[in-house]
Amino acid sequence: MTTPNRIAILGSTGSIGTRALDVVRDLGPQRVQVRALVAHNSVEVLARQVREFRPALAGLTCEGAREAWESLLPAVERPLTVYGPEALTAAATLDEVDTVLTATVGAVGLPATLAALERGRTLALANKEVLVCAGGIVTALAARRGARILPIDSEHSAVFQCLAGHAPASLRRIILTASGGPFRRATLDAMRRATRADALAHPTWQMGEKITIDSATMMNKGLEIIEAHHLFGLAGEQIDVVVHPESIVHSLVEFLDGSVIAQLSVPDMYLPILNALAWPDRHPSPVPRLDLASIGQLTFEPPDEERFPCLALARRAIAMGGTAPAVLNAANEIAVARFLAGDIALLDISELIARTLDAHPPTPSPGLEQILEADRWARQEVESLCSSRL
Ligand code: MG
Repeated sequence: MTTPNRIAILGSTGSIGTRALDVVRDLGPQRVQVRALVAHNSVEVLARQVREFRPALAGLTCEGAREAWESLLPAVERPLTVYGPEALTAAATLDEVDTVLTATVGAVGLPATLAALERGRTLALANKEVLVCAGGIVTALAARRGARILPIDSEHSAVFQCLAGHAPASLRRIILTASGGPFRRATLDAMRRATRADALAHPTWQMGEKITIDSATMMNKGLEIIEAHHLFGLAGEQIDVVVHPESIVHSLVEFLDGSVIAQLSVPDMYLPILNALAWPDRHPSPVPRLDLASIGQLTFEPPDEERFPCLALARRAIAMGGTAPAVLNAANEIAVARFLAGDIALLDISELIARTLDAHPPTPSPGLEQILEADRWARQEVESLCSSRL
């Protein structure tokens, strides 16, 4: 008889959160129990989840969602509910939680992540921006508290699985795969004219809007380079990227002897989530089996750094160090929001990030306050760069 993994899901109504609850449902209450669910403002989806999984705590980070929530769920059905941004930390620090699954988007998940690690809780991490902004603080705190970080990002889950059983010193480099996104074959000119709808049409993964735009600019892979740098303690030069449009090989690890181990599956976030919630065990899953013979061919090509300057920007932020990755991330968040709002063009995103990095002298070995300050500064900087050109 194993004891169930008691979890809190931050961002339970998004694409990762809802898939995580599919995994929870299939594993059953003997293996996983939901203690807390937090959403932004999707009250109807959250209400369905609360009725099914009966968490002790619910949260809505959007204060304005309170009225709709209270009218939707009668008081007898409503768990203790926390409103506003502090809902994330309330869920992460709730008693009797073993694993905090962070499926929030952006730097907003940082305080709750740190609070969970402070209590020695396992972090099932899908919120890559947290590691990008504050990777040094997050990994040092996890080490100090003996807390485990289990990646849910499919590429990092792949690397984590490939590394199992190998000494870190036997590793030469990792190779992150990238789908290439909707503009893999586009000309620079076509990318210049790309609309919001063009950029949201991802060929292989169904995801939220922010990460889909990040895939279109390949900043998603840039953020993942920084994420891998922190998770696996690797230098920027040890992290390569190869474009693999079929999204079957989720990443590869090369050892000192030249041997390469890869992790493959059909593309479905169910598997990295299952891996993080059940690790180190394996369980049957409803995900279709991989049939290589019917796929026939897997292809690989180098990324085009000229059309996708975000890859070099991410490496530049690692080299600058300190607060630079937090600045890169914040600048990207605002630029993507401005692109989604129709205010700027797709290629302006990398341009705005580059100009923001140019104007930022990084603070070395920053504390949390300095990271948050750099984040705030970068957001304002991009907003004012946008306003001056509009
Ligand atoms: Mg990924």
